[in-house]
Amino acid sequence: MLEVCDLTVSIDGLAIVRRVNFLLRRGETLCLVGESGCGKSMTALALMGLLPENACILEGEVRLNDIRLTGMSERELCAVRGRQIGMIFQEPMTSLNPVLPIGRQVMEAVLQHERISRREARERAVELLMSVGFPVPGERLGEYPHQLSGGLRQRVMIAMALACSPEFLIADEPTTALDVTIQGQILVLLKRLARERDMGMALITHDLGVVFDVADHIAVMYAGEIVEHASHDDFFARPLHPYAQGLLACLPDIGNPDIKRLPTIPGTVPPPAARGTGCLFRERCPRAMSRCSNPVPSVEVEQGHIVSCHIYI
Ligand code: SF4
Repeated sequence: MLEVCDLTVSIDGLAIVRRVNFLLRRGETLCLVGESGCGKSMTALALMGLLPENACILEGEVRLNDIRLTGMSERELCAVRGRQIGMIFQEPMTSLNPVLPIGRQVMEAVLQHERISRREARERAVELLMSVGFPVPGERLGEYPHQLSGGLRQRVMIAMALACSPEFLIADEPTTALDVTIQGQILVLLKRLARERDMGMALITHDLGVVFDVADHIAVMYAGEIVEHASHDDFFARPLHPYAQGLLACLPDIGNPDIKRLPTIPGTVPPPAARGTGCLFRERCPRAMSRCSNPVPSVEVEQGHIVSCHIYI
C-alpha cells in the first residue's frame, strides 16, 4: 500500500499542496484530476522525494507498505525509487538524455538496482522495450531520443520506469505530448501492464475522458487540496463537488446537436499567495454561499465518497 497522510508541501514558504490524503493499493489505478496549477505534479514529486530545492514537505507523511518514506535520506530513497516506485514524467523529450542512446538509458535503469552484467542488462533492455511494444528493439538500442517519434520516446520512458518491476507506478500526464491515437495506445498499454504486474498506478491527468477509461478511484484536486474522492462508478454517476461537476460539464458531447457552445468554468485557480481560509473555489463557484468563506471540512457522503463542500454539511 502507498499511503499519503495529510501531506502539505510548500514552495518558498507558501503552501501549494495542503492536507492531501489518499491510499493506493496494488492492482488499482487512482487518477489525480484537476487543472494545471492544482498541485498534482508537486504531490507526485513529493511522493518520490524529488521536490525542487526551494520546496519541502511541511507536514504529513508518505508510507510505503508501512515504511515511512518522508524523512528518509537521499541514499535510502534511491533504493526505493525505481525498485518499489517507478515514475513516468510528463515530457519524454526533456526527460530522456538527448546525448545517450536509448538502449544505454534503459540499461542504466536496470544496472542502478541490480547486480548483473552489462550483457544481461542489454538483454533485459531488449525484453523491456519489447514488452512496451517498441518495434524490433534489438536493432534500435543505438538510436537517440531525437530519432524516435513522441510515442516511441514515451514507450522508452515506460520501459525505464518498469525496469525493476516496481510495485507502484506514478505517471504524470504521460500522454500530454502525444496525438490522440498514440495517447489511446499508451493508456491501454499502461493499464495492461498495471494489471499484468499487479502494480498500483497513480495517474495524473486533466483529461476526464482518460479518467473514465482507466481509473478505479478518482481524487479531484483544486488549488492544492483534494476536494472530492470517490470510486469510478460513484464519481461518474454522481459527482458532488461543484468543481468536479464543472469539469465534467466541460467535456464535449459530440453526439448532442443541442449543444452550441461548450460550457467553461469562469476564472482561474487562485495563486498560492492568494489562498486564505474557506473554500478556495468560492470565487468561481455557481453555488457559493456566505458560509463558504469558513473552513470546509471533508465529509463522507456515502461509503468511500468524500467531498469538501458546505452544501453537504
Ligand atoms: Fe461552492 Fe461553497 Fe461548495 Fe465551495 S463550499 S464548492 S464555494 S458551495
